Amino acid sequence: MDDDSPLAILKQLIRIPSQNPMGHDHRGPEWCEQGMSDWLCRFFARHNIHHRYDQIEPGRGNVIARLDGDPDRPTLLLDAHQDTVPVAGMPIDPYQPLERGGRVHGRGACDVKGPMAAMLSAVARLRREDPHSRNNLIVSLTCDEELGQIGASDLARRINTGDALLSPKPDLAIVAEPTDLNVVVAHKGVLRWRIRTSGIAVHSSRPTLGRNAIYGMARVIGGLEQLAAQLQSDSPEHPPSATHPLCGRPSLSVGTIRGGESVNIVPEWCVIEIDRRVVPGESFDTILRQTQQALADGCGVEFEMLPPDTSCEPLVDGDNGALADSLVALTKRIAGASQAIGVGFATQAPKFAAVGIPTVVFGPGSIDQAHTKDEWIEVDALNQGAEILYQFAKQRRWSNARCGLE
Ligand SMILES: [Zn+2]
Repeated sequence: MDDDSPLAILKQLIRIPSQNPMGHDHRGPEWCEQGMSDWLCRFFARHNIHHRYDQIEPGRGNVIARLDGDPDRPTLLLDAHQDTVPVAGMPIDPYQPLERGGRVHGRGACDVKGPMAAMLSAVARLRREDPHSRNNLIVSLTCDEELGQIGASDLARRINTGDALLSPKPDLAIVAEPTDLNVVVAHKGVLRWRIRTSGIAVHSSRPTLGRNAIYGMARVIGGLEQLAAQLQSDSPEHPPSATHPLCGRPSLSVGTIRGGESVNIVPEWCVIEIDRRVVPGESFDTILRQTQQALADGCGVEFEMLPPDTSCEPLVDGDNGALADSLVALTKRIAGASQAIGVGFATQAPKFAAVGIPTVVFGPGSIDQAHTKDEWIEVDALNQGAEILYQFAKQRRWSNARCGLE
């Protein structure tokens, strides 16, 4: 088997642990992206492709490679994340690629080592050809996508400040995720924050002398449940305009609750965590302000809304329409079917869109298999993904007015 085939590369990638510690203090070679970054640097060195490692935290950083093509042609950014979700609970060996029935199993097989392998295979193939036959390519392998996206944030900042390796600013970006070879032009964002109620702690035998923070929170939760229901139905508060044609409706869920010290003390505090899915067109500030106002008007208790600890923007369609049309047309020719779609899951694509790069999300494999116990990808889809990226990188006529190639 050719060392640079998508399948051969994928098998090597699965063997390299790159679990995201997801905010916990896990240490050791199975955690973070250092092993993967080292392998990627060796891969680019072996192919004589100019590259750099940007450390962001100890053991965590981005590998960025550059493959120049025809200087008169535009620049395409291909991005894939190095990390996977943790492997706990997997009944298969997560780091031993298992090829069976036209599929490859292993942690990251579809999210996102498979799509990354398709990308790297296409880049290795392009490297062997005449530079004038291709567009300019920047390949970024970013860290920490599954939690804080510190890799994509660092990369976007460097693009915006004119980093030499990343200049001129890419004209288009494709972010690898398993999309079944559909082209994601819009997706939901995520906003998470906490609400706290305070009480007065007294002996539980005389509760009327205190104030119960959990009772207060119960009223807040009731208000949030109402808001969540309103988001799912047309109402004056949430008219259908909040519904996005490709992404559907926004949603709200209370995910955790903690409060009180002991059953014989009237609780002094209670804290909940809220997960709000945001559709393109909604603004974080407005959501927070309206939620605060609705609860203040409706609950009759004092509460404190803490600043968000997660805020991932939605991917907004529009700017990326022409890029999507080109990629859909090419994918239909090679794989038979593809369409521009919206999805519910968040990616790091909005980080690149925010610095003015038309961006879509695309890759082989299905999100249904991402993060699962026996994660897999179909080998046929993997090969098709590599062929599509290869041909797209050579395509002279992207239907994007910004590129001036029409
Ligand atoms: Zn992913």
